[in-house]
Amino acid sequence: MNLDLERQPVGRSQLELAGKVDLGPREGGPTAVEVTGSLEVDNLGSRFLLTGRLAALGEVECGRCLAPCVLAYDVPVEIMVICSVEIDDDMGDTLVIQQRSGEVDLSGALREAAILALPQIRVCRPDCRGLCAQCGTNLNIKRCDCTDEAADSRWDGLPE
Ligand SMILES: [Zn+2]
Ligand SMILES: [Zn+2]
Repeated sequence: MNLDLERQPVGRSQLELAGKVDLGPREGGPTAVEVTGSLEVDNLGSRFLLTGRLAALGEVECGRCLAPCVLAYDVPVEIMVICSVEIDDDMGDTLVIQQRSGEVDLSGALREAAILALPQIRVCRPDCRGLCAQCGTNLNIKRCDCTDEAADSRWDGLPE
């Protein structure tokens, strides 16, 4: 996914992006996401500001029941491409790429943005019951007979 500096009109334009971003190995995934969407490109002459939100899709293992599932999330993007040699000291959270001409490879910056935006909780569905901590039964599929100290005591003594 590139930004061609030679073809950018002065002022604002849209850059359509679609592609795979490798995130590297991580427990439960995703190791890669497909990102799609468009960024607004603000051509300021010696620098280009890219901002917007991309949609990311990746395969993960549910954090509760370990079933494979698809994670969809938004990736806010703010990238500054600087064509001059000087760089402002403090760019805040903006990802900075320094390049004078040609095609700028955005994949490194998009990778960073996609990792930053990864949701902490990655589950197959919000109400996933997960696995029984004692016998490993997938509680979305069936109940097990394990006694759970924290279980609701109203059910005590009821015949199964
Ligand atoms: Zn689950
Ligand atoms: Zn159990």
